[in-house]
Amino acid sequence: MSSAKAVAIVGLTAGLVAAGAMVAGFASPWSIDVGAARGEAGALATGATWALAPLSLGHPAAATTLTTRLPASPAAPARAVQRPPITFPVEVRTGDTLAKLLQGAGVSGQEAHFAIAALKGVYDPRRIRPGEKVLVTFEATVDGTDSGLFVGFSLDVALERRVAVSRLDEGFAAEVLERDLERALLRSEGTIRSSLFVDGEAASVPVPVLVEIIRAYSWDVDFQRDIRDGDGFELVYERFSDEFGKPVHAGRLVSAKLTLSGKRLAIYRFAGKDGATDFYDDKGQSVRKALMRTPIDGARLSSRYGPRRHPILGYTKVHRGLDFAAPQGTPVYAAGNGTVRAAGRNGAYGNYVRIRHNERYSTAYAHLRGIAKGVRKGRRVTQGQVIGYVGSTGRSTGPHLHYEILVAARQVNPLSLKLPSGRKLEGAELERFRAEREVIERAYASLVADTEVASERE
Ligand SMILES: [Zn+2]
Repeated sequence: MSSAKAVAIVGLTAGLVAAGAMVAGFASPWSIDVGAARGEAGALATGATWALAPLSLGHPAAATTLTTRLPASPAAPARAVQRPPITFPVEVRTGDTLAKLLQGAGVSGQEAHFAIAALKGVYDPRRIRPGEKVLVTFEATVDGTDSGLFVGFSLDVALERRVAVSRLDEGFAAEVLERDLERALLRSEGTIRSSLFVDGEAASVPVPVLVEIIRAYSWDVDFQRDIRDGDGFELVYERFSDEFGKPVHAGRLVSAKLTLSGKRLAIYRFAGKDGATDFYDDKGQSVRKALMRTPIDGARLSSRYGPRRHPILGYTKVHRGLDFAAPQGTPVYAAGNGTVRAAGRNGAYGNYVRIRHNERYSTAYAHLRGIAKGVRKGRRVTQGQVIGYVGSTGRSTGPHLHYEILVAARQVNPLSLKLPSGRKLEGAELERFRAEREVIERAYASLVADTEVASERE
């Protein structure tokens, strides 16, 4: 059992709202009502209101040129639209192209061609997938007996992003519309009785947030060895909800504090001056080290570094790495940024990848079922990138990852290695970090107060 509390607060960190601020007065979550703005010319009557994206994919200037009003087209002067345009969803089927789908919906080949061409630089139409829905819009004709002029189409390309193509005076234009979701901060805390994962889930912490925590701490915490019964966690993370207050998706981890054997390790999300977001400890030191100790999620350490009786060869041999038992196909991550020096079959190692991280450190990954696409000798990989999948190739008794850290080309024990530390914030950046940390801490403290008041009333 874990003691767990989760309380939501809304709007404490307005500056962090992900997809544009909520526009006061709009009942709908979409901040510009495209339908209303285009009413007289026939709009993408999707029933949703969308904000123009702060920037358009591939077209930095497009945000200012995106049209929210469609002038009457001289190509169709006789239109006397009295009925609202008709929009209907068309599901993408296996083998469909966007052109095929539009033509199937009654759009002429030529118009489909020009409408799709408008997507250039905004969205690659080859990315449509079976099961997705495309909303196709036609003007209603006066008598309502036939479908009118093709007005455009739209499709959701992400949870909060829609791409819409609309007819202009001449031709078509595409725009990216962003949906405003309400961002709330939640606080969860609990005591670890079995594992961070089990007790975190029991405290209703979303799995992606737990994965983020484990990754962020993987530099310093060995989740197999370092967690004790009675350790604790205190978390602040985001949640995004739609206009009905229904949670749409879990946001990111904002801050975490793990108390391990009485020692408290705090981390805070912070965007540095280069724009890169990372987690820092309370002194402004990046939690990221040059290498991950555990380049795999949710695996069990099944064999340590050191002498052991070899399970296949039968005699005692020094095991020069760590073995992590995991199901076939479990992704294996690059432990750090670096260059692939080997990728392929390598005798008893089976499918094997070795990455050189710097002049001192390399890491190796063995017995892989397969090596990820693009991971070839000479290629750069980034930390956390999937480089392969757990298997049992080579001299292996079952699916596991054999992982080695090499210092100056010799294997060392990853668990006892003192890893080099990452970036440390300084000067103005450190000041900004401290200010943001204070905001998070105040939010955190206010939640404690709320929780206590609430529990006293019970
Ligand atoms: Zn091994």
